[in-house]
Amino acid sequence: MLLFKKASDLGRFIAEIKNEGRSIGFVPTMGALHEGHLSLVQKSLEMADWTVCSIFVNPTQFNDPADLEKYPRTPDADLGMLVNSGCQTLFMPGVEEVYPPGLAEGPSFDFGSLDKRMEGARRPGHFAGVAQVVRRLLELVQPRFLFMGQKDFQQAAIVRSMLQQMYPGVNLVLCPIIREADGLAMSSRNVRLTQAQRNLAPLIYQTLLDAKKKIHSHTPAQLCTDAMRRLAVPGMVPEYFEIVDGHSLLPVQSFEDSDYVVACTAVKLGEVRLIDNSILKN
Ligand code: AMP
Repeated sequence: MLLFKKASDLGRFIAEIKNEGRSIGFVPTMGALHEGHLSLVQKSLEMADWTVCSIFVNPTQFNDPADLEKYPRTPDADLGMLVNSGCQTLFMPGVEEVYPPGLAEGPSFDFGSLDKRMEGARRPGHFAGVAQVVRRLLELVQPRFLFMGQKDFQQAAIVRSMLQQMYPGVNLVLCPIIREADGLAMSSRNVRLTQAQRNLAPLIYQTLLDAKKKIHSHTPAQLCTDAMRRLAVPGMVPEYFEIVDGHSLLPVQSFEDSDYVVACTAVKLGEVRLIDNSILKN
C-alpha cells in the first residue's frame, strides 16, 4: 500500500492513475478503523480500478472541542488493517495539508431541508465542516466512486446533494451498516463506552427493529413517541428519534406519504454520542 502524507505528492500520483485511464474509488474516514470502514474499502476494491482511503480527523466538523480531543486515534492499527484489506493507497495528511493558508473557500452549498434537522439541528456547523473537507478531498483524489456508510444517513444525503450541485461525475455508493453481533452499529466512538454503557447500547438497534415491525399498525408519530420512551433508560439519554422521508429528510406524517422512509436516532451514553438508523420502507 502506498502512503501519502502530502497533498502535492498525492496529487502527482493521482494524475498518473488518471492518465492511465483507471477509475478511482475513494473511502474517506477519520480513522480508528473497524469492519464498517473495511466494508467500504472492500466495495471500492470490487468496483474501482484503484482504491484510495483517507484518514483525517477533520477539526472543522467537530462542534464540540472535547469530542475532537477525545476522538480515538489508532494510526498503527489502522495501517495494518488497511494493508490486510488490499487497499492500494492511503492518504493521511496533517491539518496544514488539507487546509493550507490561503486555500480558497469556494461557494457555500444550499442543502435545503437536508441539514436543518436531526444532526444539523444539534451540531451547529457540523455539516458545513463535512462539506468543506469532502470538497477538498474530492479535489485532491478526483474519484469516480465515493463510498460512504448508511450509518451516517444524513451526512450521505448531504454529500449526495453536494455531488449533484458540484461534482456530477462522482458516483456516491451508499454501503450498509455493519453491526456488532448484538446489533450495535460499529463506530469509532464505541471504544469510549464503559462496560455498563456497552451493555446498554444494543437497545438502540432493538428499538429501531421494533419500529420497523410496527409500521403497518402504528403512525410515525406513535412510533417516535414509543421509541423515545423506550430509549430513556437510566444511563441513556435519547436526543431524537425521527421518522423521515429518505430523500428530503423531513418527517413523514404517514407511511403512505413516502416510498422511502428511514428512522434516525441519536442517543447519549454519558459523554459518548451515538447515532443509528434503519430503513423502514424502500
Ligand atoms: P468515520 O470514520 O466515522 O468518519 O466514517 C467513515 C465512513 O465509514 C463514513 O462514510 C461512515 O458512514 C462509514 N461507516 C462508519 N461506521 C460504519 C458502519 N458501522 N458500517 C458501515 N459504514 C460505516
